[in-house]
Amino acid sequence: MNVHAVKILHDNYSWVLESNQIAFCIDPGEAAPILDLLNRNKLILKCILLTHEHEDHCGGINDLLKKFPHCIVINDKNYEKIPDILDQKIMVYKTPGHTNNHLSFYSNHHLFSGDSLFHLGCGRIFSGTADDFLNTLSFYENFPHEALLCCAHEYSLEGAYFSNWIFNKIDNIYLDLIKSYQLKKQTIPVSLSIEKKINPFLRTDPFLFKALAQHGFDCSTLSEARLTLRKLKDTYQSNVVFLSKK
Ligand SMILES: [Zn+2]
Repeated sequence: MNVHAVKILHDNYSWVLESNQIAFCIDPGEAAPILDLLNRNKLILKCILLTHEHEDHCGGINDLLKKFPHCIVINDKNYEKIPDILDQKIMVYKTPGHTNNHLSFYSNHHLFSGDSLFHLGCGRIFSGTADDFLNTLSFYENFPHEALLCCAHEYSLEGAYFSNWIFNKIDNIYLDLIKSYQLKKQTIPVSLSIEKKINPFLRTDPFLFKALAQHGFDCSTLSEARLTLRKLKDTYQSNVVFLSKK
């Protein structure tokens, strides 16, 4: 099975999985770049998989269905009906938090996390609950190391800025990442084993608690630390936009 990252919209990724000229597409927020890939490789689109219903993940469905009217659309209501026609099985996991019905998919060592986990970050809580959010982070924390994280946005530079701000003077690995990501257009996929060590939302080491204490938050549990990070990230976003415009 081949896996293609397709850059769509401003900073989204859609993912195309293919074997034997049959293709599945994850989160087609826009149709044209995906149709282009399908045409170039003479692929037939048989299935669309949606991690959640936000427009930047499903805006291209209608145009894809016009070209491939027999294609099946899979979401949280019918996920047990994923056709078993690629050369690798596709596993489905419920990963609520960003939304209350968010799904993640896994196939051939690729973990498609939509907006529930990004490189160096995670999606904010919209329709999910804090408990959902925490359970989903634990799920990723315990997911097999060898997986490659294929998320739905290129937010890595922004995540590196935030991480560097959080771990200021405690862990300086993020400065190198900022330098390198300023030059890179694509940083995804990334190994989940690395992600567990450097994504602040998956870190469990004492430095995390030390870093939050430096910002004035004395957290006694991992859940408390992760929710504090989420709140800090929610208000940090605008600073990053300002920084990256400079
Ligand atoms: Zn979303």
